[in-house]
Amino acid sequence: MRITYIEPQNGYKKKSRGGLSLAGLSGIPVIILKEGTRRETGKEAQKRNIQAAKAVADAIRSTLGPKGTDKMLISSSGDAIITNDGATILREMDIEHPVAKMIVEVAKAQDDEIGDGTTTAVIIAAELLKGAEGLIDQGVHPTVIVSGFKQARIKAQEYLEGLSIDVSGNKEMLIKIAETAMTGKGIDVLGNKLSKIVVDAAIAVTDNKRIDLEESVKIVKIPGGSLDDSLINYGIVIEKDRLHPEMPKKVENARIMLLEGSLELKKFSSDAKITITEAKNLASFKEGEEKILREQVEAISKAGANVVFCQKGIGLTAQHYLTKYGILAARRVKEEEMQMLAKATGARIVGDVLQVSNKDLGEAALVEERKIGKDKNMIFVEGCKDAKAVSIILHGVSEQFLDEIERAFEDALNVVLDVILSGKIVPGGGAPEIMIAEKLRQYASTFSGREQLAIRAFANATEAIPFGLAENAGFDPVDAIVALRSKHSHGLNNYGIGMDDGEPRDMMALGVVEPLKVKIQAIKSATEASTMVLRVDDVIAAKREEFKTKPGQSPHDYTRPPMPPMM
Ligand code: ADP
Ligand code: MG
Repeated sequence: MRITYIEPQNGYKKKSRGGLSLAGLSGIPVIILKEGTRRETGKEAQKRNIQAAKAVADAIRSTLGPKGTDKMLISSSGDAIITNDGATILREMDIEHPVAKMIVEVAKAQDDEIGDGTTTAVIIAAELLKGAEGLIDQGVHPTVIVSGFKQARIKAQEYLEGLSIDVSGNKEMLIKIAETAMTGKGIDVLGNKLSKIVVDAAIAVTDNKRIDLEESVKIVKIPGGSLDDSLINYGIVIEKDRLHPEMPKKVENARIMLLEGSLELKKFSSDAKITITEAKNLASFKEGEEKILREQVEAISKAGANVVFCQKGIGLTAQHYLTKYGILAARRVKEEEMQMLAKATGARIVGDVLQVSNKDLGEAALVEERKIGKDKNMIFVEGCKDAKAVSIILHGVSEQFLDEIERAFEDALNVVLDVILSGKIVPGGGAPEIMIAEKLRQYASTFSGREQLAIRAFANATEAIPFGLAENAGFDPVDAIVALRSKHSHGLNNYGIGMDDGEPRDMMALGVVEPLKVKIQAIKSATEASTMVLRVDDVIAAKREEFKTKPGQSPHDYTRPPMPPMM
């Protein structure tokens, strides 16, 4: 802590101690920070920040790779999640330390942009900081470290690109990629079948451009049955009942109308004074209402629709006419689902019912309401030709299990989509990381300055990935690394760690492959995160507000851990 006041200057000039002093105001302590503010500068601040980042990585290190273990997270309300997914663990943990939060942000960015490689990014970030810490102790300035890391990062990307191969349009390869992305998530046995579903879904929805999977793939989780019953549905499943029991339950060769508005008349608000005095008037008023709705339903039927999905309400009168015309209808369908239905069936969403024409309708081989479990119905829209939105129906024993499968599917969908677009893959199993490390060590030797040390530290940090893969699988990580280095020194750069015996294996031959982009982005995210932390050497923290209990939370509830002390 630096001193923030100046002592009286009596006669001789005191040596300046730096800090926040104002010259000339003799005798008066100058305090520019609010009372209770804590400040920490220099090495001390850096060390604590590095500790925080390492703590984040330690929380997920054991989940890395196909043999990584799961974590069970229990929220303050008692809900449990069992997961192996680094991004999910970090999202659910109530992390408060500001630097730890920065690392979590990196993981989130990696997850949002690429959808995989989160654990890898966080582990490398922490290892980079560990290396930096050692260098700072030896007196290397953080600026030099940051510069060395950046050069190493650029080289690492070059090496990765050199290692990658193009597999555009190779479906078998895409299935392998999906498999690698899903391993370790408790579904290995059926890996291949589920990987095929992922690949089929990705191929169906992509238009050779980046698309938002959330808008094109709907994952429907159905507890009960076995995971083996899971399938892809070229269409959308809507979690709704049909509106009326007399409507058809099943419509083949469906002609589908998507209505944005409602099929009911506006309710009169209480201040609209309509006084209907005579029974005759009431009857004619009702007749008028009925006529409008009858005409609307007639328009729908005339256009040729036999299925209607409506985003808003459908009143009793309209229900009556829809039933009469033999139309299957559902109401209050979510906007996102309407969009997906449009993409799947080729329908155009209609605003004005009376304007509907045959051209607005979409098609599906079958629309059917089916019973799911004991008391739930869902409407399956299936067999859509050229569906640009699809559903994946997952069966599984428990909701928790299904949630974890869903996360694995999302990761896999993202990486497969990525390879469909970029075409480039690299081997997995730690092969690229070992290659980067080996090549960076050679590259480091070309530097005569201290940056050499930073580049070496970078090489060591990337090796943490094969190290972790071996360790989590129960093999001796040092032996595994040494054996791998030997292969790579002979130019066998596809060799990574075999998960059966810890021996070096050709990952391309085994089909353990990942998108180039996942690896590039993981290393980029890690470098950015670590340099961001290294640049901070002054932490000024405002006095913390007292911890306020939330409504419904007991003041004695300490489940939310207090913020770790910053100084
Ligand atoms: P991340 O969040 O970083 O994706 P994962 O837990 O998914 O972390 O582990 C990914 C790592 O596991 C990658 O390095 C990948 O190459 C490796 N991996 C996946 N499947 C295998 C396998 N069958 N053999 C060896 N390594 C594998
Ligand atoms: Mg992964």
